Amino acid sequence: MSESNYDVVVIGGGPAGMAAAWELRDRKMLVLEKTHRLGGRLYSMSRGDYWLNLGGHLFPAAGSHMRNILHSIGLDVIRIPGNKFAICWGGRVFAPKSVSALPLTLPMSIRERISMAAIGLRILKAVRGWQKEMQLVYGENNQTRRARVARYMADISFRDFIGRPPKRVEALFQSAARRAAAEMEDQNAGVGVSLFGAVWSGKGDSMALNLNGGSGRLGEVMMELLGDRVRYNATVRSVERAGDKIAVVYEIDGAEHKVSASQVIVAIPAYQAAEIVRDIPDDVRATLNKVQYGPFPTMGIITDETGPMPYDEIYAITTPDASFDMFFNHANPLRTGPRKPGGSLMVYSGGSPAKEMLKLSDDEIRDRYLTDVLKMFPELKGHIKETVVQRWVPGNTYRPAGFNFDPMLTYCERTDVDIHFAGDYFAEIGNMEIATGSAHEAARRARVRLMNNIRKSPSLQAVVDGENGLPAAKIG
Ligand SMILES: Cc1cc2nc3c(=O)[nH]c(=O)nc-3n(C[C@H](O)[C@H](O)[C@H](O)COP(=O)(O)OP(=O)(O)OC[C@H]3O[C@@H](n4cnc5c(N)ncnc54)[C@H](O)[C@@H]3O)c2cc1C
Repeated sequence: MSESNYDVVVIGGGPAGMAAAWELRDRKMLVLEKTHRLGGRLYSMSRGDYWLNLGGHLFPAAGSHMRNILHSIGLDVIRIPGNKFAICWGGRVFAPKSVSALPLTLPMSIRERISMAAIGLRILKAVRGWQKEMQLVYGENNQTRRARVARYMADISFRDFIGRPPKRVEALFQSAARRAAAEMEDQNAGVGVSLFGAVWSGKGDSMALNLNGGSGRLGEVMMELLGDRVRYNATVRSVERAGDKIAVVYEIDGAEHKVSASQVIVAIPAYQAAEIVRDIPDDVRATLNKVQYGPFPTMGIITDETGPMPYDEIYAITTPDASFDMFFNHANPLRTGPRKPGGSLMVYSGGSPAKEMLKLSDDEIRDRYLTDVLKMFPELKGHIKETVVQRWVPGNTYRPAGFNFDPMLTYCERTDVDIHFAGDYFAEIGNMEIATGSAHEAARRARVRLMNNIRKSPSLQAVVDGENGLPAAKIG
């Protein structure tokens, strides 16, 4: 086993790992990533004028951690002009100009209409409360704010909040809730409300942005920029203290390797982190093991139509009657000038249907999804050029009612630890912004620890201070 020593080892090359690595790039740093690429659950592939999307795609607003990273590496977002709350109802697609018009637009019985309007109003009120919680309170750091937001309506399930509406209305809200990769019963009301808040935010560019070229561009550019500081196909097996260092054991092609580091940032899903990290308090391990994830089977579709399609002005459609829960038109942000031929679509299911879908082979998943896509849009017959099925396990993380994340937050406040955690599970529902934000916090804590170690060593401190005839330098 070869062994080298690093300031920082980052485990995982998803948004959290990339953010931590980018922030600590001035250090002697190594990223260990299980797959052949960076990006994690952000994944797209270039296809001519379009991109085939398989994972996360909605990017956060200006001023966010993610946007700052994109800016610093020369990538930018594009606005999604199309409708984001369209619904396929009784075989027809409805895309009203405002969310509030939905109960009036959809053909339904009076009972269904009253129920839908009542639930809609209740969600709208709760969304206002959630938006208020999201605002930064003066003097509060981001982590405290996130913890406060995560406590919003966290004690009851989204099902308890919605109640028992008529069957078709229930199916619609269940489908929408599955964007959290969970059934209404399994996610807390704050999670469900935040899903609607993100889509209904309306003003500004919040949650209505794609990465130009596809979300996979972030990982691709990071692969170039980080170069040989990333080891691919490297599955970390254990992280444990060894004297004043942390030993990290990983495997590539069945061969075991070991590196040591002063600081380790663990940026992989929570239950996987609990499996590999040996030296953490019991309550932190228990919390990591309790974080919930649901799967997301997705399918990207490249089409080759030559003329307009009925969904050209739409970005997202909730599809309660289909084998998938959501339909996305990834070409919508590009439909600004004359319409180019072809297009890019994506469908996915969450919650219980996703678990059932994953029991099937890729070909069976493709056939089921395609049958329903063609039922919705028969105009696509003969125009399916390429399909790619992706199985995301884990797909997304969500908090159930009554979940307590405090032991992890208390651990994060400690100034005497060298193993740090980051990932999308730091929020009530997983998203790229909390992944990068929690990584920023973890990187900051690792940097402080590194600086403290330098202060303890008079000879190293002299280098930092520019003594001994050397210019002031970073220890890397
Ligand atoms: C279909 C889908 C749609 C989504 N849509 C959106 C969206 O529109 N907007 C949004 O903000 N978010 C969205 N998300 C969620 C978003 O993608 C995640 O929140 C984000 O990717 C989490 O980042 P992460 O770094 O915490 O984890 P990941 O992205 O899961 O990255 C973890 C990385 O760690 C690696 N790894 C795991 N174990 C090990 C190990 N033992 N050793 C080495 N490496 C390891 C993995 O290979 C992976 O690369 C979506 C997710 C999916 C699946």
